[in-house]
Amino acid sequence: MARPFVVGNWKMHKTIAEARALAIAVRDGARAFPEIDVAVAPPFTALAAVAEVLKGSTIGLAAQTMHEATHGAYTGEIAPTMLRDLGCTHVILGHSERRHLFGETDINVMKKARAALDHGLVPILCVGETLQERETSRTFDVVERQAEHALRHITPQEAAGCVLAYEPVWAIGTGKTASPAQAQEVHAFLRKLVARSHGDSVARSIRVLYGGSVKPDNAASLISEPDVDGSLVGGACLETGSFLGIVQASRG
Ligand code: PEP
Repeated sequence: MARPFVVGNWKMHKTIAEARALAIAVRDGARAFPEIDVAVAPPFTALAAVAEVLKGSTIGLAAQTMHEATHGAYTGEIAPTMLRDLGCTHVILGHSERRHLFGETDINVMKKARAALDHGLVPILCVGETLQERETSRTFDVVERQAEHALRHITPQEAAGCVLAYEPVWAIGTGKTASPAQAQEVHAFLRKLVARSHGDSVARSIRVLYGGSVKPDNAASLISEPDVDGSLVGGACLETGSFLGIVQASRG
């Protein structure tokens, strides 16, 4: 099995001072779990401060989105080159909040994934169905379309190091978690999809995280599923104890 990976998506939370304090606590606390890969995704405004805190540690630094261009007249956007300049190692792409609140499309995610890799950032590629899509039996169609676009211009060698995150929209921030069996079913499907498009060994190497109301008390049962390699955590990553509780529970 791939090394477990736990990513905290801080979303639009934390001032610079608060971000620095949380990053210090996560950095120090995560030392007790060297067998787990950990990354944090602070808001843009705190990336520089958190990069400073994480320097010399093994904790990854992720941005929550980016533009695909390296520079240009794109008011309000951030380029992959700028993220690298800040010390980012990863970037979350296609998060459902980006898709549903800000109109990000599969094509946008496809371009951004290519640009992230071109600039040395590991993309964390989010896919997931809405409640209505699940209730109308479209879960597999939706995640297939999203994952296929996200990986379309990525070579097998690159894809092996990428991260997929299955985040059912109905489970994000709602307190409703997919059952381990529901998560496993979609993760196994995604892995088969990757095997078909990029080969069996890539399908075995790519890490597939689950996201959607992961908490310290449900993380262990999710990670115990064979195709769940870790989690993308929203609400529970804003407090050191709960985030580290999830990291600890991910030891399997
Ligand atoms: C997320 O937004 O990626 C997420 C999984 O949020 P939460 O853990 O709060 O459901």
